[in-house]
Amino acid sequence: MTGWASTLTIAGSDHDWPSKLKEMLSQKQWSSNLSKIVEKLKNGTRLSIADGHELYQHKNLYEIGQLANMVKLSRYGKHVFFNSNVHINQTNICVLACKFCAFRRSKRQADAYELSIDGYLEEMDKYSDIVDEVHSVGGLHPDWNVEHYEGLIKAAKRKYPEIAMKALTAVEIKHLSLQSGISFHETLSRLKSAGLDSLPGGGAEILNDEVREIICKGKESSDEYLEIHRQAHSLGMPSNCTMLFGTIESIGDRLLHMDKLRQLADEHNLFQCFVPYPFLPDSTRLPEAQLATSNEVLRTIAVSRLMLDSIPHIKAYRMNIGDEIAELALNFGADDIDGTVRQESIMHLAGANSSLNYDIYQMAKLVNDAGFIPIKRNTTYTRFSPVKVEPPKRVRRLNVIA
Ligand code: SF4
Repeated sequence: MTGWASTLTIAGSDHDWPSKLKEMLSQKQWSSNLSKIVEKLKNGTRLSIADGHELYQHKNLYEIGQLANMVKLSRYGKHVFFNSNVHINQTNICVLACKFCAFRRSKRQADAYELSIDGYLEEMDKYSDIVDEVHSVGGLHPDWNVEHYEGLIKAAKRKYPEIAMKALTAVEIKHLSLQSGISFHETLSRLKSAGLDSLPGGGAEILNDEVREIICKGKESSDEYLEIHRQAHSLGMPSNCTMLFGTIESIGDRLLHMDKLRQLADEHNLFQCFVPYPFLPDSTRLPEAQLATSNEVLRTIAVSRLMLDSIPHIKAYRMNIGDEIAELALNFGADDIDGTVRQESIMHLAGANSSLNYDIYQMAKLVNDAGFIPIKRNTTYTRFSPVKVEPPKRVRRLNVIA
């Protein structure tokens, strides 16, 4: 398969995208109340929080989608990215009990589990010939410290050096630093030396401590989330960032969340991807949540693309929003649909029903059907390969007895 290489900071973007965007935006008549925003986008001026409110309030959702889509098209053309990965959740035992979480268990619950290092490797064995990334997040285990994870990551890398390890959310890093009595920086530095390649973005929820106090009491604070990612970036370790919306936050909270992330991205340019995903209510304990509609999911993805000028990729996380909304989101500014995933508990326990048995050809078909060009990427968006959509397999149908 032919491919092309990029750098960590360019992450596959067209070098000339600002001038392409200016040209595209000039070719369309926009609603008058968007003219200030369109001018800013043409000139490469960062949108303000007030602009973000305007985008959320603008009645014509399709027009917001068109704006966001032009930004995406200027950067990546018709390319849409995904990777070949597997999720392995090392434990569901957690010392916290975030209100939105359907995954965690206490140690005494019958379905609590913890994978030994050998057990973890056995999970990798099942997928090692078809994936190039393992995404591992889990509960805050009361007995595991940084040494445990050093051992786990070293063992995984020794056996599968070519598989990228994207593991441990900010709250897990905080937990390990507390367990081992060392700083965030030292924790990350030791894990990087053990072979950790990048951090996933989970745990950001909403970066407003008043909201966090209600939905995820005891988790890392907003500043701690940002500081952990800052420290990772200072070590040259890229990371993703997320936003959980549709709980009890306001539109202003979402916009301030985006503003904090883009400011941090300005420092080292190593946030690779922003993943906005709505709260899924099944089995969880947040009856006061104001659940996001499909319209709101698409608008939030579009606003993310327009506000987050310093974060290259916006992901339509199909595990959470489903294939149908993910395909639509590709016309609202998203350029990535995550990966093959293969096994997933966190979203599925909360009510997601996205298919888990996709291979790269099914991912390619999903992208192709949405009108885009499927591109397989690696974890860090530095290597890309086009994927051909295979013709549908002929199936022999059995006669149906009426
Ligand atoms: S979201 Fe993470 S930290 Fe919170 S309860 Fe669930 S597993 Fe634990």
